[in-house]
Amino acid sequence: MTGSKPRISFEYFPPKTPEGREKLMASTTPALSELGPEFFSVTYGAGGTTRETTQHIVTTLTGQGYNVAPHMSFGGDDENTIRDLIQAYRDAGVNRMVALRGDMPSGMGASTQLVYANELVEFVRKESGDHFHIEVAAYPEIHPEAPGYAEDIQYLKGKFDAGANSAITQYFYNVEAYFYFLDQCAAAGINQPIYAGIMPITNYQNLARFSRNCGAEIPRWICQRIEGYGKDVESVRKFGEEVVTQLCQTLLESGAPGIHFYTMNQVEPTRAIYNNLGL
Ligand code: FAD
Repeated sequence: MTGSKPRISFEYFPPKTPEGREKLMASTTPALSELGPEFFSVTYGAGGTTRETTQHIVTTLTGQGYNVAPHMSFGGDDENTIRDLIQAYRDAGVNRMVALRGDMPSGMGASTQLVYANELVEFVRKESGDHFHIEVAAYPEIHPEAPGYAEDIQYLKGKFDAGANSAITQYFYNVEAYFYFLDQCAAAGINQPIYAGIMPITNYQNLARFSRNCGAEIPRWICQRIEGYGKDVESVRKFGEEVVTQLCQTLLESGAPGIHFYTMNQVEPTRAIYNNLGL
């Protein structure tokens, strides 16, 4: 492990109910904040569908003194709407964001042209200079719509050239894919840090379904092991914790600059892995 403490951050999605939002802000966040994250981030529903709830959680937590980064994408919105949102975040004291193209929610039709993340980064820089630390998304196993491996890395470089400061990866369980990707990024002239996105294994069925769509592979040996546990939830939990702890350990020992946990709004799976790492 390198000398300095790795950067740790935690991602949330906006809960649908007021009770869920209250729990996230009043109990989950204080518990996770004890682990000393650099920031929390809050996702933005496909096509801007969670704009108000994302904004509410981000500004409330920021007001309570937490360092919080909203995820943002154009979705189907025009420049004025996004300009206002950027300004509202500035006014609330927010100084980080995760800039994305996003996806269209199913049913919203194909008439809306999605805006690539590099264009959003450019827009944010034009509107607000260096105010925000901007993170972008990176894909060690390559974005499912990318025309090819090298092209996806060039598009990532385009996001850095537009002004992004660092990247967070899609989650992955193949550690070699991440380090190979870092090497290829370095060879392409990318010098900014690329933090490893890590998804604790909690609900395997949901994870397997989601992974099929987002370009993240669950290795066969992990699937076989978990499927073998059947309905034995405790064994799945224990195995998932061991596998993801091992993954994080290897990442940090081999020089990953830090870990971004996809917490799924839960304290325990992330805290257990964090504690196992002895950070
Ligand atoms: P882009 O970087 O714009 O890339 C999209 C695709 O187009 C890729 O295939 C790329 O190869 C290609 N491409 C990129 N730039 C260009 C260009 N200039 N010209 C032509 N082709 C190009 N989704 C949500 O809806 N809400 C969230 O809050 C959210 N948070 C995320 C956080 C992280 C850390 C990650 C890794 C993903 C997140 N996603 C989120 C998912 C993400 O929105 C999807 O993966 C989406 O399909 C791509 O977004 P992007 O910003 O990576 O897109």
